[in-house]
Amino acid sequence: MNIIELDSFPRVRLGHTPTPIDAAPNLSESLGVEVHVKRDDCTGLAFGGNKVRQLEFYLGAAKAANADTVLITGAVQSNFVRLAAAGARQLGMDIHIQLEDRVPGKDATYKASGNVLLDRLLGATIHYFPEGENEAAADANLHRLAEGLEAEGRRPYVIHLGIDYPPIGGLGYVVAAVEMANQMKASRLKLDGVVIPSGSGLTHAGFLVGLRALGLDLPVYGICVRRGTDLQHPRIVRRAGEIAALIGRNGLIDASDVIVRDDVLAPGYGRLNDATLSAMSRGASLEALMLDPVYSAKTLAGLIHLVEQGQVPQGARLGFIHTGGTPALFGYETALTEYFSPRA
Ligand SMILES: *Cc1c(COP(=O)(O)O)cnc(C)c1O
Repeated sequence: MNIIELDSFPRVRLGHTPTPIDAAPNLSESLGVEVHVKRDDCTGLAFGGNKVRQLEFYLGAAKAANADTVLITGAVQSNFVRLAAAGARQLGMDIHIQLEDRVPGKDATYKASGNVLLDRLLGATIHYFPEGENEAAADANLHRLAEGLEAEGRRPYVIHLGIDYPPIGGLGYVVAAVEMANQMKASRLKLDGVVIPSGSGLTHAGFLVGLRALGLDLPVYGICVRRGTDLQHPRIVRRAGEIAALIGRNGLIDASDVIVRDDVLAPGYGRLNDATLSAMSRGASLEALMLDPVYSAKTLAGLIHLVEQGQVPQGARLGFIHTGGTPALFGYETALTEYFSPRA
């Protein structure tokens, strides 16, 4: 199976793909559903994760534009900025990252370890932005930085966060859906649904578009990690529409086909709750899956919630897209050590 329109976009190869689909027998047994883990935490580049696939298109566009410097914005423990730095370095480009103050009340470890440590090691120039909930302002500040670099004779390329720019990173998850569909066909694996994180939404929307473009109609459960369903549903509908249009398939996605669930989001982006910590613990102790507190553990918590609420029947076969985020574990060291240390 293939979507030939994907070939018309500039792309660089950064990831180790196809990533495996692993059975998770212990977790499956404990939940009463069959879980199959798509290991996008193993995309290879600098600790891997889903953004490697997105960056193949962004950095492909940067190369096509003959850029020599990449700019990107994200949360302090952003995996996206870490991987943008890694990809830019591999391609011989400079990298400026802007870290937004998005998660309240974090300690020195959050601000210096995990992804931030790797950003420094990769030699990224780090800028700080005091707001965390204003995507348009964060993008506008990136543009100011880019103009300054241009004035110095650099050729900057900006990777935008906001919804008003084309979602080309979503093409990376159209690719992932094609890849997974081919693996499923080869191994005769039939899934009843796929569970995937829904943040900026490019992973979720891209994957949904990819499946539907191939004519596969299994449900895709987007687990909210950033905003509640009231904001996330229209966002995914819009992004999926835009990604479908990029591959020449206007009207492919109907709003009723977009599923987002925010049952495990509270108290908000990048903040822990019992369901997330418990999912992180189950993933590690049952399957040696390293799930991060911001995205992948919350997503497994969302899967567990769907099962426990009976919204996915016992015995169902579910795909779980493990999007990585491993380094963020160390940014959350203080809280995690407290939770996982046995009490006297
Ligand atoms: C960014 C990220 C997500 C969410 O992906 P979006 O495309 O922003 O929705 C999920 N998991 C990890 C580990 C991430 O870094």
